[in-house]
Amino acid sequence: MAGITVDGLVKDFSGKTAVNGVSFEVGEGEFLALVGPSGCGKTTTLRLLVGLEAATSGEIRFGDRVVNDIRPRDRNIGMVFQDYAIFPHLTVFENIGYGLRSRRVPGREIKPRVEEAARTFRIDQLLRRKPRQLSGGQRQRVALARAMVRDASVYLYDEPLSNLDAQLRHQAREDIMTLHREKERPTVYVTHDQSEAMAMGDRIAVMRDGQIQQIGTGAELYERPKSLFVAHFIGTPSINLFDVELRADEDRILAVGEAFSLVLPPRLREAVAGHLGRLVKVGVRPEHLHVPKLAPFEVTADNTLHGLVRVIEPTATGSSVYLSTPDEPGVDFVATFKVRMPASYLDQEVPLAIDLDHLHLFDAETEASLT
Ligand code: ATP
Repeated sequence: MAGITVDGLVKDFSGKTAVNGVSFEVGEGEFLALVGPSGCGKTTTLRLLVGLEAATSGEIRFGDRVVNDIRPRDRNIGMVFQDYAIFPHLTVFENIGYGLRSRRVPGREIKPRVEEAARTFRIDQLLRRKPRQLSGGQRQRVALARAMVRDASVYLYDEPLSNLDAQLRHQAREDIMTLHREKERPTVYVTHDQSEAMAMGDRIAVMRDGQIQQIGTGAELYERPKSLFVAHFIGTPSINLFDVELRADEDRILAVGEAFSLVLPPRLREAVAGHLGRLVKVGVRPEHLHVPKLAPFEVTADNTLHGLVRVIEPTATGSSVYLSTPDEPGVDFVATFKVRMPASYLDQEVPLAIDLDHLHLFDAETEASLT
């Protein structure tokens, strides 16, 4: 068994195309996070992989085997879903061992496998309990232990952490990665939470309107988004976007907006050559706006933006500062600093230096990246 291959997958529901030509591969032992906003088609894609929906067209292969026409129970999938799907009338032990018993594994083999999985997920003291006697986090670990005891060919997760609070989610991520490292099987993990996708995925596929916008490592998506949508979806706080017009001025190219007039660095000249005189969007990540005296580059009028400080939010490592351009009606943007900004800056106008090495430019119409 090698990985998962999805080729030109389409799913129409009467009048609505939920999945619209999705293709991707998941390598043996690879963890792919499938992320996107509500309604983009993530769950439908996963249900097609499981076999709970039939594809309108396109092919799904597990290794060399086309599984489109194979029943869900014969696809040999380990699944963990949001509601965990554990049986309320069975004990923890019976729930974990359920998949083995239904595959007629002898009882003497089931016991040690269940006990080992329960130890891995720290529920070995709870084996006689019923699900209603467990916390949400413990129930989730029962579902993971049940996936652990099986030797599935692929593992699929649909928002398995969405019922857990922030603290437990972190622990549960670790538990899922433990399971993944143990099994080294191709895995698809659906989430709407981009930070979870970034933390867990070897690669991340960003979906929108039934299509995959971009697949890559977290760093690739963050640093080299191919579209405005991906740039905006990945990263917290979100990337700042400014409308500008590109103008040639002697041998320089200016990006002139309401908030600033920047001189673009030479490396971007070629990329923007066809866009002179046109509107484009400039993207600046919040950490690429610097307090001028702390900026790791030379600060001039050509890379400075002015903002009125509206809100200062302390963070664990510094502060997030929400600003707007001083002119009415003003453009809102956010900067994150590794230092605490004193409250005395509230309602003050401050200069901020833009790190032009990390500037993103997008076509205002197609929203494709120019850089
Ligand atoms: P969420 O994060 O909210 O679960 P999602 O990205 O998983 O969203 P899907 O559940 O795959 O999205 O739904 C994609 C689109 O297909 C939505 O517009 C949804 O309303 C539609 N859809 C899903 N299942 C059906 C169905 N059985 N019949 C008709 N339309 C459906």
